[in-house]
Amino acid sequence: MEKPLYPSPYMRITQGYMVGTHRDSYAIDDAGKDSSISSIKAPFTGVIKKIYKEDANEVWLESIDKVLYPDGTEDFMTIMFTHDNNVDDLFIGKVIPKGSDFYQEGTKGNASGNHCHIECGQGKFTGTGWHKNNAGYWSINNGKKPEECLWIDDSITVLNNGGYQFKKIELEKPKEEIKPTSPPIEEQSKEEPKEEIKPASPPIKEQSKEEPVKDNDITFEQTNNKMPKLIFTCSKDDIYAIKLKSGQKLYLD
Ligand SMILES: [Zn+2]
Repeated sequence: MEKPLYPSPYMRITQGYMVGTHRDSYAIDDAGKDSSISSIKAPFTGVIKKIYKEDANEVWLESIDKVLYPDGTEDFMTIMFTHDNNVDDLFIGKVIPKGSDFYQEGTKGNASGNHCHIECGQGKFTGTGWHKNNAGYWSINNGKKPEECLWIDDSITVLNNGGYQFKKIELEKPKEEIKPTSPPIEEQSKEEPKEEIKPASPPIKEQSKEEPVKDNDITFEQTNNKMPKLIFTCSKDDIYAIKLKSGQKLYLD
């Protein structure tokens, strides 16, 4: 289950929720690394449900599947992004892979400098996606605090967290199992394979994240259509026995 990641690689929250233009909403503004325009990454694999070009190019992204919230909630998530100057590359129904740069900071609508206005909502896109709140601003339906929706990890540089504590995803250390009797093993074990970012729109097949298959002291990793990965270097001429599963490929160099 995906953990929605904070969408700006440089977290610089310039306005928090429930204040100023964010009264009666859990909206935050993120201005990124500097005053220029930075890209915003998809926090999860999602589908675009609505684009509202008449105002600030608001875009609603709904998760394809349920996601894991930092507070333990397992549910769909919908996030509204605002102020991109040009969203002509987006369309309703477009599938956005997690981690891809799909939105930009900007100044479209009521924005004084380049930033992205972000509002998280729990559950799927509902109704028109938003409602006019008690302060007179249009706010996402089922709004929820961003720190209860979004995770951070080592890829995110926190310049200003706005006073909010975001829960961090700790990457698990690779397990090393080297047995003295076995041939030398070069193990490259990663907990989560880096997802290839493709801008194309066809539905994404869930990548299998199975544990490496271990057999006969030689570790194999699922390569998921990527380039074959070096997992074993033969140190001397010898006869090796390996067990392959049906459909598995063996590359020799
Ligand atoms: Zn805002």
